Amino acid sequence: MLRTSAKVNLALEVLGKRDDGYHEIATVMQAVDLCDRLTVETADTLSLVVSNPALPTDDGNLIVRAAARLGEAAGATKGARITLDKHIPVAAGLGGGSSDAAATLWALNRLWGLRWSRARLAGLAVRLGMDVPFFLGTGRALATGRGEQLEPLPGAGAYALVLVNPNVPLSTGEVYGRVPAGWTAEARSTRRMVEALRTRSARTVAGALANNLESIVEPMVPAIRHMKSALLAAGALGAVMSGSGPTVFGVARSYDHARQIRSRVNRAGWSCWAVRTVSGRVIRAV
Ligand code: ATP
Repeated sequence: MLRTSAKVNLALEVLGKRDDGYHEIATVMQAVDLCDRLTVETADTLSLVVSNPALPTDDGNLIVRAAARLGEAAGATKGARITLDKHIPVAAGLGGGSSDAAATLWALNRLWGLRWSRARLAGLAVRLGMDVPFFLGTGRALATGRGEQLEPLPGAGAYALVLVNPNVPLSTGEVYGRVPAGWTAEARSTRRMVEALRTRSARTVAGALANNLESIVEPMVPAIRHMKSALLAAGALGAVMSGSGPTVFGVARSYDHARQIRSRVNRAGWSCWAVRTVSGRVIRAV
């Protein structure tokens, strides 16, 4: 069985729209130990069983797409029986589908005996989604370009976070579609976060949290502001939205502190988790 981590964006800046229709971004991605569980077993044909009935089990699921793409590219004719135990909220800005897709590529590479390198898997991963290659790597990276150009940021401390999700799904495409024409920004906050991580101080990292999509998402989902205020009132050192939202997260002084904050912000209608950042390989066999 594999544990497939969610991610948060410690800093995220949309820098502008590219001619190819994508947005140029700069972000610091961080894996956290809120995980889905994926089991991949030998079978003649490809099948997927998912614990969350709201998710598709056909080509609409990134797991099936990842398996099909890898099978085509490698000329593999074998199948697999894949079971997904879903814990990461869907359409939440936590990259759950991308993480599942990366774990699928990693597991099938082994199951089918393909012996593809991580770099070769990453080349296929990016065609499934810009966030997918991150999950094949280590727990923290600076991502630029469309989000697919990764520079690992190793050894910059471990942090405890509190995630809060309002149980309202939000489409990444819809949020990016609302970025106004002519939007430009510089990657200052992202560079500041890279510097802050070097100090290994939770307080400094909390002071450098940034996401310039918040101004677009807050009017759509008023809960964002309420969740951030609740985290700060409960003692978080800083709070920000992850990715294109609507999940927000706060930085705590320690894991115990994160659990205290979680119990204080636990409101009806919101889901909360105290988590730790993941360092080392994101995909882990258990
Ligand atoms: P990101 O942070 O990368 O934008 P997200 O966390 O906002 O991602 P996901 O949970 O990855 O969003 O999924 C968004 C959409 O992808 C949903 O509409 C969902 O139906 C579809 N999807 C396909 N496969 C999966 C999967 N394995 N897990 C979750 N969602 C999936």
